Amino acid sequence: MTLVVQKYGGSSVADAECVQRVARRVAAAREAGHDVVVVVSAMGDTTDELIDLAGRITSGPAGRELDMLLTAGERISMALLAMAVTELGHHATSFTGSQAGLVTDAAHGRARIVEVAPARIRTALAAGSVVIVAGFQGMAQDTQDVTTLGRGGSDTTAVALAAALGADLCEIYTDVDGVFTADPRIVPTARLMPAVSHEEMLELAAHGAKVLHSRCVEFARRYGVPLRVRSSFADDVGDDPLTGRGGTRITSTTEGRTDHAMEDPLISGIAHDRSQAKITVVGIPDKPGAAAAVFTALAGAGCDVDMIVQNVSAEATGCTDISFTLPASAAKSALDALKGVEESSGFLGLRHDDRVGKLSVVGAGMRAHPGVSATLFSALAETGVNIQMISTSEIRISVVVHVDDLEAAVGAAHTAFGLDSEQIEAVVYGGTGR
Ligand code: ASP
Ligand code: MG
Repeated sequence: MTLVVQKYGGSSVADAECVQRVARRVAAAREAGHDVVVVVSAMGDTTDELIDLAGRITSGPAGRELDMLLTAGERISMALLAMAVTELGHHATSFTGSQAGLVTDAAHGRARIVEVAPARIRTALAAGSVVIVAGFQGMAQDTQDVTTLGRGGSDTTAVALAAALGADLCEIYTDVDGVFTADPRIVPTARLMPAVSHEEMLELAAHGAKVLHSRCVEFARRYGVPLRVRSSFADDVGDDPLTGRGGTRITSTTEGRTDHAMEDPLISGIAHDRSQAKITVVGIPDKPGAAAAVFTALAGAGCDVDMIVQNVSAEATGCTDISFTLPASAAKSALDALKGVEESSGFLGLRHDDRVGKLSVVGAGMRAHPGVSATLFSALAETGVNIQMISTSEIRISVVVHVDDLEAAVGAAHTAFGLDSEQIEAVVYGGTGR
């Protein structure tokens, strides 16, 4: 028997009608002969609403109680979906994260999965039931308390279950048709990618592509779980999970690509990210230990630094500038931490800029092709976009630009790498990007 795990995001189960639409997909997969495990998110904006509700009671809810509250959102959708599937004549059983065997550490609000013990799921599947699991939650090994995996964590639940159950495929259903060569909300000529490798998808997700959570892609890569991203709103209920052609398949190799027969495409896609800020440490002595002092202070404050650029020191002063980017939400604690070492490390000042955006071009083909940076930088130059910072990996080039230039920059790069489609392919069914 083949096993398919399907995950439906909040916009896919936003109301009763949506839940029934999802139930028809689940039933179709069952009728096609697959065992089916479904992971659901909370309906629509339920999680945000529950957070607001807690905020009206207290400004600092205990992590344990907040997790107890938020996990209720997924419970609502799992029970409703089980009812809807039953209405269609199939047996369905819902399980909370802890009933499904998702064992985590005790870090409330950002728990890590330590073990998946899906005995009850296996029993229910063997009895012929469709299994429906509440996403983004588990139970702490030590305290036995209910935990959540962090916002958007249902994707991770789905991939973790797919890995533990040895599923043939994990389908992630959302409100867009798959992964596009750029965000179709910014680049209307973006193309649907029929296939992309785990490593490329990881770079795209880690650098701003919102269609998948990077933690889920990392998990899928580590355990070799094949993913398929598709829309729950599209008119393709009969498209078999394993053999159908719609959506985007994410696999460990780029095998099965239909767009570029023999070789990896030069550039698979372009991600953008508006959530970062840039901090510059001005006039720091150019001597051993200076960078260590700065980044030790940042690490101590729990700041997750992304790009780092150090200028060549001006000979006259013997001082240099170090700039780095980090999530804008962490900028305040970073600045506080740096002020704490201002005297000991001897720098002259700090500059903070949150009007920045990051563009990343990703493609496995760039390994074997020179000139990708030249093409990107020329396209930006022709568009009049100034580059503030640059960083690269084997399969990615990222630049930081002024936030007001970001959309123009993404569009220019998309055109320069020949990614524009002739007709508009993207349909955005929901509004949230999740
Ligand atoms: N409902 C949770 C959230 O909105 C988890 C998820 O959607 O994956 O973050
Ligand atoms: Mg949600």
